[in-house]
Amino acid sequence: MMRVAVLALQGAFAEHQAAFRDLGVETLQIRQRADLQRPFDALVLPGGESTVQGKLLHDLELFAPIRTMICQGLPVMATCAGLILLAERLVDDPVVWFGTLKATVRRNAYGRQLGSFFTRGDCGPLTDIPMSFIRAPYIEDCAPDVTVLSQYEGKITAVRQDNQLALSFHPELLPDRRLHQFFLQQMVARPDKIAV
Ligand code: GLN
Repeated sequence: MMRVAVLALQGAFAEHQAAFRDLGVETLQIRQRADLQRPFDALVLPGGESTVQGKLLHDLELFAPIRTMICQGLPVMATCAGLILLAERLVDDPVVWFGTLKATVRRNAYGRQLGSFFTRGDCGPLTDIPMSFIRAPYIEDCAPDVTVLSQYEGKITAVRQDNQLALSFHPELLPDRRLHQFFLQQMVARPDKIAV
């Protein structure tokens, strides 16, 4: 039985839990260091406010062990603020959190006030995925070994680098569960399979 851990410090973590529940997969919340002792097969870094989440990760001493798990190959699905936490570089911002994803990310890239919108688009092998962008970042640039899965108006909005799946948008807020299923099938059930 697969179990997915969801970082539950702030933001849209309950919605990811609901998505995995719809797919028959058990979830557990990561709120404190002791929660990392329980076995799990994958981790979700949810949307929310990356600065708040990053500070809490450090304050609660979750940061270093989670970073180690990601570096060791734990499958990670990151949405929005989660993408910012993974990025190796942020535009106009010296802060680096986990820095495990070889990508340069622009925060609030669609503007702060009117930066929320809905669209549909393809993502990797999946077509016509509903996508909710909320004060979303986009990926300005990524390394050659990072696979671009989705773009919106010429900007990269979803990538995969080995065990890391990172999305600008929020699939968990909409009823379509194909991206969560894709993550489970392609990255958790068969983590050694890199092709998308
Ligand atoms: N703008 C937020 C940040 O910088 C991300 C928004 C989101 O996760 N929906 O962290």
